Amino acid sequence: MFLANQRSVSYGFIPDICGILRKYNLATIINSFVRDAYTLPTKFTWKSIVNNTVIISETSQWNNRMAVHNDFLFFRILHPVIQPCILYNIYRESSCRYILTILANIWCRVPYIEDGICPYCVEETSEELIHFLSECILTRQLREYLIIDLRHLFGIAFETEFSELESYAWTLKLLGSPIAPCLESESEKRFLRLCYRYVVNCLNNL
Ligand SMILES: [Zn+2]
Repeated sequence: MFLANQRSVSYGFIPDICGILRKYNLATIINSFVRDAYTLPTKFTWKSIVNNTVIISETSQWNNRMAVHNDFLFFRILHPVIQPCILYNIYRESSCRYILTILANIWCRVPYIEDGICPYCVEETSEELIHFLSECILTRQLREYLIIDLRHLFGIAFETEFSELESYAWTLKLLGSPIAPCLESESEKRFLRLCYRYVVNCLNNL
């Protein structure tokens, strides 16, 4: 009835399904099935078609949105592809979920890129968060503790490579960006837990 006269039925299960099929350009397959029942793919093939079509469509929308809006300047480097977020993977069952909230706000923060003077150390800054986490005298001691912990846990080669990143890359790596130097999965999580604790301690100093 809905396919025969779509204007007479505007809500319910079937209209919802048809709406989703149109959204992902899959309606032609159903239309073919209505005309010829033998054209419907097997269950396995149909699931594969749906999965691929949805992934391609959502990835395209994701990339377009990331490219157009400057609000995502940090976010698109921290989380460049559609996949479960590492922040969520680290803290989803943790009692420290308040850290997840703080870090999520930083990930989605609009960068403030403008030359200025840090109110804490009176040094020149071009982006205040990057300066505060990677350069500021106010957070230097916490940074030294972090570096000592990293050297102890992951070795001097990793610590040296991490320390040699310039401020922008250093801060993004600290926040979870998948850039070198990389560790294997569980070590990367331990590294980020240390880094996130450092970030929260720095912010508590403000
Ligand atoms: Zn400063």
